[in-house]
Amino acid sequence: KAATMPARKKAQPAASGIEVSHGDRIIDASTGVTKLDVVRYYEQVAPLMMEHLQDRPTSLMRTPDGVAGEHFFQKHWQVRAMAGIVQLPQSLDPEHPPLLAIAGAKGLAQAAQFNVVEFHTWNAKRDKILRPDRMTFDLDPGEGVAWSAVREAAELVRVLLLELGLEPFLKTSGGKGLHLVVPIQRRHDWDTVKGFSKAIVQHLAATVPQRFVAKSGPQNRKGKIFVDYLRNGWGATTVSAWSVRARPGTGVSVPIAWSELDQVSGGAHWGIQSVQTRFSKGNSPWKGYAKAAVSMGPAMQRLGYSA
Ligand code: ATP
Ligand code: MN
Ligand code: MN
Repeated sequence: KAATMPARKKAQPAASGIEVSHGDRIIDASTGVTKLDVVRYYEQVAPLMMEHLQDRPTSLMRTPDGVAGEHFFQKHWQVRAMAGIVQLPQSLDPEHPPLLAIAGAKGLAQAAQFNVVEFHTWNAKRDKILRPDRMTFDLDPGEGVAWSAVREAAELVRVLLLELGLEPFLKTSGGKGLHLVVPIQRRHDWDTVKGFSKAIVQHLAATVPQRFVAKSGPQNRKGKIFVDYLRNGWGATTVSAWSVRARPGTGVSVPIAWSELDQVSGGAHWGIQSVQTRFSKGNSPWKGYAKAAVSMGPAMQRLGYSA
């Protein structure tokens, strides 16, 4: 009887030494991308992606049944210790179980072995958790908005931010839209940063109402673009640069230079199978990011915003 038992498939070793179980399993029927493809992708992209993940509380989106299956968004994970995935001190968020962070390349591959496809990060780092170091403006096009209008909208948001003395950096979302990331000095608290980001979006919606809405909800944004400032609150996250998306097509969120926007065809311009062509550019489209952080104070004054 025992002889008829099928041989157990051996786990496939990945470059990082992680043993990948069910590596052949297709996670996205539309592309044929497998779990092993995802692990290998994260191993390759780790040096670029760690710059975006380092020291940030990170939520993990797992899709054990592939991108068409159920999505689990995990802020906490106490199941077991995993190489390269750390639990942050509980004092950072005392009411909840410890937050997670990816500590290095091995953590990325290890997470992918546990069916994590997406990595989402906070706008603050662990050493100063009460003071965000960036604002995120997430451009969410409503139904019927052409991509050319999303591009133009991004340029408009940029002009306003530059006018305020803030410098936005751009990435594709890997999904439908674009994300503008504004580095700021770590002086203001969450309420102030979120409040100011909301004021910026309300100003946009009031100035260019034919294009922008400041209210979320699909009803409000038909034919318009919701500039989502809700990513700027305590505990809110945005998908990290270089993360794969757990959606059909397996898009990737990629940092781009403003001068490249014209050549980008959509939020999912790059996917896990085409993004290798971007590795040589790496994070260079965000050159100057670290030096671009200014205090929000003068910008708040210019907009007439008081916390
Ligand atoms: P797209 O360009 O298609 O909008 P996106 O990543 O911007 O892609 P959004 O729905 O706009 O998708 O969400 C923005 C971010 O907000 C996500 O990347 C995620 O980090 C966070 N988010 C959104 N919905 C949830 C949710 N239900 N639970 C946890 N985080 C969420
Ligand atoms: Mn979005
Ligand atoms: Mn959004």
